[in-house]
Amino acid sequence: MKIDVVGVGAAYEPKGVNASLLLEEDGYQVLIDCGPTVPPALWRRNLDPEAISALYFTHCHPDHCLGLTTLINHWQHCKRKRPLLIVAQRAQWARLQNLSFFGHWPDDDPGFSIQWVDSAELDALGPWRMATASSRHSVPNLSIWLRGAQGSLFYSGDGRPSRHNKSLLGSADIVFQECEISHELSRLAHHGDWPLCQTLERKAGSLLCPYHIGPEHQAIVRRDAADMADVFVPTEGDILRLKSGRWQVESRT
Ligand SMILES: [Zn+2]
Ligand SMILES: [Zn+2]
Repeated sequence: MKIDVVGVGAAYEPKGVNASLLLEEDGYQVLIDCGPTVPPALWRRNLDPEAISALYFTHCHPDHCLGLTTLINHWQHCKRKRPLLIVAQRAQWARLQNLSFFGHWPDDDPGFSIQWVDSAELDALGPWRMATASSRHSVPNLSIWLRGAQGSLFYSGDGRPSRHNKSLLGSADIVFQECEISHELSRLAHHGDWPLCQTLERKAGSLLCPYHIGPEHQAIVRRDAADMADVFVPTEGDILRLKSGRWQVESRT
């Protein structure tokens, strides 16, 4: 599994790209979350407009989905033909569909078909087994777990680890966990924090990647994590690979 770190930013990141991953295995690509600054980051990669098979949305906060309009609009402009799968919580489809429709307005469709799938009903996506579980967040957020031939990945989306998503997290080889703040938050908070991230029960040999770190907290988390062999604080443009259950940080921009 190739993990292209499109962005790691928090909601109001002054410079960086909103949190998003582009995953690939056996030629199948899925984009996880698409905030407003994600489409330009994809354009910088010169991706073929047909390359991405599916979009997965953890939840409908603007920093995780507002780029959908631009993405659909761009693919229409590029005359994409390949059908697109959009996987999201059914209760949040209406908001996402507003964004998608606006992307091809005033046309009735973007020139390619879009299939909407409820995240809760899916147990496989492309080459991966898939599972979702909720975190503790201010709107319903479904973390995603994917397992392929080479290993498994967990991506929290937003929110504090809950009893629901902790078991998925604990069985992944690479764990992307939202970590808004460098100091401890109340256990009733709606975000992860750095002290909590360090106490999460994880699979032996797994790698923890804290992301979505508030701008004023990033330096502290990076400094603390510098000496930790099983923690990697990703930067946008990083590429990670999973091979036979082992992670590798391949390159960094
Ligand atoms: Zn967010
Ligand atoms: Zn959120």
